[in-house]
Amino acid sequence: MALTLAQQKELGSIIAQMISATDEELIQLEEYTRPISPDSSIGRISRMDAINNKAINDSALLEKKKLHQKLEKARERLHDDGFDRCIKCGETIPFGRLQIMPYTRRCVGCSGR
Ligand SMILES: [Zn+2]
Repeated sequence: MALTLAQQKELGSIIAQMISATDEELIQLEEYTRPISPDSSIGRISRMDAINNKAINDSALLEKKKLHQKLEKARERLHDDGFDRCIKCGETIPFGRLQIMPYTRRCVGCSGR
């Protein structure tokens, strides 16, 4: 079953909201992942903290970038016929799932890790 126009519209605005939220988080994370200058006056321990935090933020940044790409792609695909179809089994992805994860391409059954 294809999405109705109203559903497409709703998902479109959910995607737009998610994209702008992700944009803001990316700006923040890019701030946090700036190189740590070696001459900074922070102590050795806090410097190690800073390096650890940077590693965490680096991977968070990578995840956010991926999410951002998925959202952009979802926005492009939104009006395609197969938008709500699982790419693995071909079943319809429930609308409730798409509302939470509009970028998903798999049903719950096929997305298991
Ligand atoms: Zn499936």
